[in-house]
Amino acid sequence: MATISSHIAVMTFPFASHPSALLNLVRRLAASFPTVRFSFLSTAKSNQAIFSGQHYDNIKPYDVSDGLPEGYFFAGNVHEPLEAFMKAIPGNFKEGMQEAEAEAGVKVRCLLTDAFFAFGGEMAEAMGVPWIAFWVGGPCSLSAHIHTDPIRSTVGDIDTAQNAEQTLNFIPGMSKIQIRDLPEGIIDPREMPIAHELHDMGLKLPQATAVVLNSYEEIDLTIITDLKTKLKKVLSVGPLTLTLSSPSKSDESGCLPWLDKHKAASVAYISFGTILVPPRSELVALAEAIEASGVPYLWSLPDHSRNHLPQGFVERTSTRGMVVSWAPQLQVLAHSSVGIHITHSGWNSVLESISYAVPMICRPFFADNMLNCRMVGDVWEIGVRVEDGILTKSGTMKAIQLLLSDDKGKELKENIRLLKDSAVKAVGSNGSSAKNFETLEDIIGSCC
Ligand code: UDP
Repeated sequence: MATISSHIAVMTFPFASHPSALLNLVRRLAASFPTVRFSFLSTAKSNQAIFSGQHYDNIKPYDVSDGLPEGYFFAGNVHEPLEAFMKAIPGNFKEGMQEAEAEAGVKVRCLLTDAFFAFGGEMAEAMGVPWIAFWVGGPCSLSAHIHTDPIRSTVGDIDTAQNAEQTLNFIPGMSKIQIRDLPEGIIDPREMPIAHELHDMGLKLPQATAVVLNSYEEIDLTIITDLKTKLKKVLSVGPLTLTLSSPSKSDESGCLPWLDKHKAASVAYISFGTILVPPRSELVALAEAIEASGVPYLWSLPDHSRNHLPQGFVERTSTRGMVVSWAPQLQVLAHSSVGIHITHSGWNSVLESISYAVPMICRPFFADNMLNCRMVGDVWEIGVRVEDGILTKSGTMKAIQLLLSDDKGKELKENIRLLKDSAVKAVGSNGSSAKNFETLEDIIGSCC
């Protein structure tokens, strides 16, 4: 790298798809500002996962403490690493930033943080630099967090179990969202370990110089218009993956050559994201549905869950199916053979499915999954939620049949094709995302 002209500290929430989503934004910015150093602060585990085999001239990873005691053994409680990390912030980031400044010999002139970090506002203010917050989810979930107080005051005193289907028609663009779709902790903070931090985030984000989203305006115009009245600057710059060249991981399992052998739009691609493990009973039901429906499938399933599949399933379906521990999802969804995406409805997965016009069967599990699933099924009409919200053999078979053969499936396919076209337009020259990215460049350029 040439002489470092300026320095941006990037602070990541080191769980699930958050670091790789933020890295996508940083990769684009780093290409626009080749002499600016981007110090990417995350835990060693997360940095190792997303930087392995990758090198970027002006992006430098720095490991910060994960807050876990020396020799910590992960025994399966996912809350432990999360709670330890939340106790370590912001001290661990301050230390990491000092190290990065000393090494670069240039002071940090801008903070780019995961929007989860409300402390970013105070830190940036104390340093006299802009705070750019990156929201990893979609506009709908951001709106739910920004409106947490009105939601609590409007529905907080009713029996939410009894009124689970009540809609949020008092929030612009959210009239089809039901109480039961909200992420855990929005109504009852006791449901979620970091609910207080997320509430705090909703209150602090209006101070951010800009809130950047991996989305595009046309997909949720009403929500975005409302968010623009609450936040200083809302910059939807996505889908980022449509603007980046190389994939994050290679095709070690040979998914792409395998897909080449199948007919157009015939394969069901199955994945539940980076951290989620569906219950064994649902994995069994899904496998049974896949086997009975005869659909070709490509299943991204972590090794530790493989033994939950029914005995002999992989062997019996080996001529038309493949189970891998990780798939190059972007290229898989871009492949012409893939016709269905069975997903937990994580935001990145939904946006990637839209980017390549693959209709979805959604089985939402946690966080923003239920909101995204509602948008997919009832607002954009580009997929279906599995019957009764859980994977059963008959419900999944019905959904597969609907997407592959029924007229309704054709309609969903057409809807997602139109949405994909608008996504492509948004990132193209003069598109809304392209213009928002220029605004972001101006903000960064003015402090660098
Ligand atoms: N992903 C992938 N290969 C896999 C499984 C997941 O590339 O085998 C990627 C996927 O492309 C997406 C991310 O992991 O970018 C999952 O993000 P999402 O927001 O959908 O879910 P999360 O993991 O945060 O629950």
